[in-house]
Amino acid sequence: MSTFTELGISKATQNLVESCEIELSVPFSYAEKNALENEARVLQAFQKARVESRHFSGSFGYGYGDIGRDTLEAVYADVFGCEAALVRPSIISGTHAISACLYGLLGPGQRLLCATGKPYDTLEESIGLSGEPGTGSLRDWGVECTVLPLKNGTCDVEEMLRLLQEDPSITLIHMQRSRGYDWRSAFSAEDLGKWTSAAKSVRPDVRVFVDNCYGEFTETIEPTHLGVDLIAGSCIKNPGGGLAPTGGYIAGTKDSVDAVARHLFAPGIGAEGGSYPAGYRDFYEGLFLAPHTVKEALKTAILAASVFQKLGYKVSPDPETPRYDLIQAIELGSAEKLIAFCRNVQGASPIEGHVVPEPWPMPGYQDEVIMAAGTFIMGATSELSADGPLRAPYIAYMQGGLTYEHGKIALMKCVSALSGD
Ligand SMILES: *Cc1c(COP(=O)(O)O)cnc(C)c1O
Repeated sequence: MSTFTELGISKATQNLVESCEIELSVPFSYAEKNALENEARVLQAFQKARVESRHFSGSFGYGYGDIGRDTLEAVYADVFGCEAALVRPSIISGTHAISACLYGLLGPGQRLLCATGKPYDTLEESIGLSGEPGTGSLRDWGVECTVLPLKNGTCDVEEMLRLLQEDPSITLIHMQRSRGYDWRSAFSAEDLGKWTSAAKSVRPDVRVFVDNCYGEFTETIEPTHLGVDLIAGSCIKNPGGGLAPTGGYIAGTKDSVDAVARHLFAPGIGAEGGSYPAGYRDFYEGLFLAPHTVKEALKTAILAASVFQKLGYKVSPDPETPRYDLIQAIELGSAEKLIAFCRNVQGASPIEGHVVPEPWPMPGYQDEVIMAAGTFIMGATSELSADGPLRAPYIAYMQGGLTYEHGKIALMKCVSALSGD
């Protein structure tokens, strides 16, 4: 028996997947060109900041004068075309980074406008769109929120401008680049930049924040290259390159980043404190690898779209559509198929490959969720993972993959299991 057969991959599946691969040279070469340009930008940022091996060392205590941290933040700021950045192991997740931005930039009596529809599920309780009163949400602090629904799958710019002109209490706009757990397109940096310019043309004082999770390095520019004030994301997604062990980043204009640092740490201390004894090498090396690992994940997603489309499932995005995030949605149509898909992604994992995932109620999510992730870094969705809420039409969202080879093996395993051969 071949290794593939032992992994549960039939010859027919192998042939199917390889026939799809042959048709994907155009989207694959686009992803490769993109990675090349991003790698050049990252390399240049490392050299401009004169990164040296001494910057890998950690610090202790207050962490004042932590040159490794400061240099890492300078590299991130440069890569994202920003004046300043925070890159901190003490930011525990993307949700924490985003939530800190909202708390840092908003105060009582002000209003947040979510211009690309309902924000990612885990932010609902921070904003106060769900959850009990008295839990410390923005709403409890006197910050109101308007969610502007998408119109034909995109930002309703006309209505956004009307709201901005009508309500001077709107001081911050939130936009989300990635599709998240929704059957919608991710938005390009160019679109986010256009909407930002439009908003600022009627209200120059308004700030624009973009939830950049999963979007980093999927294009050759980032939203902050086009006038967005502030972005945030997770270091265990795209920019960590599979190596960063934890953390989140925030990047933008100096005054926005300073405001968030005052909230995250303390007024008067801001970004100057914060030690990390374990050192920063993995953050640097991860960022250096990130354009490449993002490309591997993009190619895995493109292959998944192609294979499942060929098998007759609805997929979003299509294999040929330009991508602005890592997420591939596949409409599987039944709870059994969603569960089987996730179990086979798990079964193809290097870590905890023997574990059988079950749907469960996740903190911060409204429906039961099944999650498959056998990762070197717990919860790192730059590594191959799949998940989906147990609600019709049973969409599997898959993302990540440190290597295309691994992504392809996992996909073949899923396809073999779902087609029963
Ligand atoms: C992952 C993600 C978040 C939250 O990040 P966590 O690290 O899971 O807390 C927020 N927004 C988007 C679009 C995401 O993909």
